[in-house]
Amino acid sequence: MRIQRTALLCRVALAAVCGLGSASVGFCAGIDLSQLQGWDIVVGESAIPSERYAASEFQEHLFEATGKRLPIVTRTDRQERHVFIGASQALQHSPVGFDSSKMPAEDLRVVVRGENIAIAGGPPRGTLYGVYQFLEDDLGVRFLTFDQTYVPKVSRGAVLKPADRTYHPPLVFRFSYYGENFAHPEFATRIRVNTITNQPKLGGKTGRALISHSFGAQIPSAQYGKEHPEYFALRNGKRLAPVKDDWFGTEPCLSNPDVLRIVTAQVLKDLQAHPQAENISVSQNDNSKYCQCPRCAALDEKEGSPMGSLLTFVNAVAEQVEREHPNVKVGTLAYWYTRHPPKTVRPRHNVQIQLCSIECCLTHAITDANCPLSGPFRDDMRKWGQICDDIAIWNYNTNFSNYQLPCPNLRTIEPNIRYFVANHAKGVFMQAAGNTTGAEFSDLRNYLISRLLWNPELNGEALIEEFLNLHYGAAAPPIRQFLQLVHDEAEASGKHKNCFGTLANFGLDASIGERGLKLFAAAERLAGDQTVRRRVEKASICAYRAAIEPSWKLNQSATLDATLAAQQRPLVKRFFDLCEKYGVTQVSERRSMTERLKMYKQLFSLKETESL
Ligand SMILES: [Zn+2]
Ligand SMILES: [Zn+2]
Repeated sequence: MRIQRTALLCRVALAAVCGLGSASVGFCAGIDLSQLQGWDIVVGESAIPSERYAASEFQEHLFEATGKRLPIVTRTDRQERHVFIGASQALQHSPVGFDSSKMPAEDLRVVVRGENIAIAGGPPRGTLYGVYQFLEDDLGVRFLTFDQTYVPKVSRGAVLKPADRTYHPPLVFRFSYYGENFAHPEFATRIRVNTITNQPKLGGKTGRALISHSFGAQIPSAQYGKEHPEYFALRNGKRLAPVKDDWFGTEPCLSNPDVLRIVTAQVLKDLQAHPQAENISVSQNDNSKYCQCPRCAALDEKEGSPMGSLLTFVNAVAEQVEREHPNVKVGTLAYWYTRHPPKTVRPRHNVQIQLCSIECCLTHAITDANCPLSGPFRDDMRKWGQICDDIAIWNYNTNFSNYQLPCPNLRTIEPNIRYFVANHAKGVFMQAAGNTTGAEFSDLRNYLISRLLWNPELNGEALIEEFLNLHYGAAAPPIRQFLQLVHDEAEASGKHKNCFGTLANFGLDASIGERGLKLFAAAERLAGDQTVRRRVEKASICAYRAAIEPSWKLNQSATLDATLAAQQRPLVKRFFDLCEKYGVTQVSERRSMTERLKMYKQLFSLKETESL
């Protein structure tokens, strides 16, 4: 191997690190990435689809970085100048030989030794994630959005130092819930979100499903309610069944043995249909109308929480599940009125708890002792941690009532994820604008969240900086200034609000939009090309949305003041035009862009066919 000047400089130090004899010192000095003539990429003859794809991802990105496209082969005829991707006989018999086939599903190992590189991990995702980790760590690649990957050019003499690194992601379930990930599963995979796609090429999903509302499907009131109203919640002397929408209208009576029988049978049926499932939800619907019949109420009273009757029920289902599916866990939400753990009932060893932080403040981190909203959540998290070893988190990361409003929570994401991991969460669902693309700074947020879920040790502020600089280039400074304004003002306002709110709820008003428009205009002037200009324009939607808050909050039948109408209408028009241009389909979790446009036309006394 040719030893470059830079390589020679670090030779002595590396020899010590490698612990290799003097004959290997030359090899130990590293690999010159600009000199890869005669190298190839080796995949196993029986490689799984995600390992083959990992090899092609490596090949493409290395080509972009070095201008050299290494051939992909399955057999080797020499001992060196190979990049081994994934488990293979060739890797096992090589000088870097190791067997990754028994590693856990997402663990990875990167070895740089002599004139070989090996990247391999547990099937089905470890190798593919290993390639992305290598591209980030060793080539400085950054997967920013589905259509922007930053690949720096490898300079002459750039040396890849000898290494033997392993990585075990602390979270087995990582869900950054943005429409961008559903629309672009290849991108979601690159940022190691493991909950999006079943495609074997992309390594599939984790077998652990999101624990979510389930009773509405397991014991529907439309099916059972008429004949057996006693299966459903008793509230104020009345059984809530049948109802139009179980999810928001009723809960089952959890102390009724027939309800246990029906739900258990449904769970076992579902598991038979999905033999790969690692867990299944047995969970409350999305309302607070839990049963208050004497039996349920007595149990809840004794346990100090409606989780008393729920967990007793979930444990009973889990006991049945274990007989037929000893490796499957039963998950339930600790959400809203069931967040507080019961006094004496304990989750069975095969029960998972998904703890929901919906009451917590968007502006302040959950760890912030000065915020009055998060203390009770921290108490519950600590208590659940003492009685359950399989906790996941449902955390809220957007303003669900107003997807496009500036949302002052960017500074909380790193401390929140770290806090969850430090408190033994195994999975984190970062719920955000999953049913649209183009929510406020969704590209930045998805990047930040996904990278922190994969590695909670990363620095959130540095990740934001990195994204702003690489995505907006010369236009980054005014955008940074806008984000700082939003966060500084929300924090200084002394307001505390969870994930549903108006601009005023977060201590902001339309003036933040007006100042934002000036800053985005400055950013557009600084943008070096059309691509960056479009990115800036897309990001500016949130400033328009804030600037039209005065008319947004009016009812469509309200009488609009003429001065306000004249001031707002061009901004409203621009807001809807930009949303259409950038594929934004929802203004909130429940309301579409089309519905909102219709309301605005009524407010401005326009016909449906007229344009704003
Ligand atoms: Zn009951
Ligand atoms: Zn707060």
